[in-house]
Amino acid sequence: MQMDKRFKHLDERIFGISPTLKAKELAERYGYLPYMIQRYYEMLGDWQEVVLLLEGNEERILPSIRCNTLKIKCKTLEERLSSKNIKIRKIPWAPHGYWVEHSDISIGALHEYLHGYYYIQGPASMIPAYILGPTEKELVVDLAAAPGGKTTQLAQLMSNSGTIIAVERNRKRVKSLISNVRRMGVTNTIILNTDARKLRLYLKEVFDKTLLDAPCTGEGLIPLIPERKRSRTMNDLKILHRLQVELLLTAIELTRDNGLIVYTTCSIAPEENEYVLYKVLNTVDNIELLPISIDIGVPGLDEYLGINMGSEMKLTRRLYTYLTGTEGFFIALLRKR
Ligand code: SAM
Repeated sequence: MQMDKRFKHLDERIFGISPTLKAKELAERYGYLPYMIQRYYEMLGDWQEVVLLLEGNEERILPSIRCNTLKIKCKTLEERLSSKNIKIRKIPWAPHGYWVEHSDISIGALHEYLHGYYYIQGPASMIPAYILGPTEKELVVDLAAAPGGKTTQLAQLMSNSGTIIAVERNRKRVKSLISNVRRMGVTNTIILNTDARKLRLYLKEVFDKTLLDAPCTGEGLIPLIPERKRSRTMNDLKILHRLQVELLLTAIELTRDNGLIVYTTCSIAPEENEYVLYKVLNTVDNIELLPISIDIGVPGLDEYLGINMGSEMKLTRRLYTYLTGTEGFFIALLRKR
């Protein structure tokens, strides 16, 4: 049976959600589309917790940077920034990450930035590459790569050895990927400007490690981009959900047996996270979820809208701004059997 038909009744429940009066009220007060708020209630199960989430999204997230050890020692970078009166503080879960607590100059305009000594990267966005943990001789694919935050981080973790194939469909975004790869001194990466789904025709079961930082609605980025409160409809979610399922199935085909895959999004939407995994785990039988070694956020949803997503979904991690002070994020680690 075609996947669309097999999950039709669940799709109807998930994408057909309608907001209650309470959701409409909160949506009006905080400036969201009502369907979003109703989903927050379904995720958290408590209206007070929903208000905490909404309040958290009103807070400012500190900017953060990742020190690029391909070009500089982190200690040296710390000293250089301190001499310019820039105050940074180590991010506990990111070995190369720092919050920027104070800077008189824009952190994208410093010489140190232009020299590629650091990358401006969200604190949650640094986690997936550490979780994937590529080593020096491995063959790695990054299936949605621009502008290159995670590609350049993977290269750093691999000390510029082994090989990364960085895939990006959008031609304009490839330019920023190329420029970041150059700026950060990355030399182990081949960039492909194509639709990642096409790779399954040529590169089956060859990669040791696969990163899928999936194209998503960015529902975790509301504290940084408040317009996102109203800019995406349920239909946008549905379209991206379908693409995410196809990309994750591609990721599985490209990865060798026992190879690892990280599936991640900058979204807190169950439709783009647990429900994508649920469909994929119920479609192929050669993949399993693994625990995540960085203790941050809360476990993924094992139930949503009365649908049992499977207890293994608790192995994934959800990061909410109001709990972690980071952008909203989702991370899952999978192994191909
Ligand atoms: N990993 C990037 C980073 O850390 O800087 C961010 C990736 S962004 C979340 C997702 C990217 O996937 C976008 O640049 C988008 O253009 C690209 N994309 C969307 N559909 C794609 C596809 N079918 N194949 C390859 N790339 C795709």
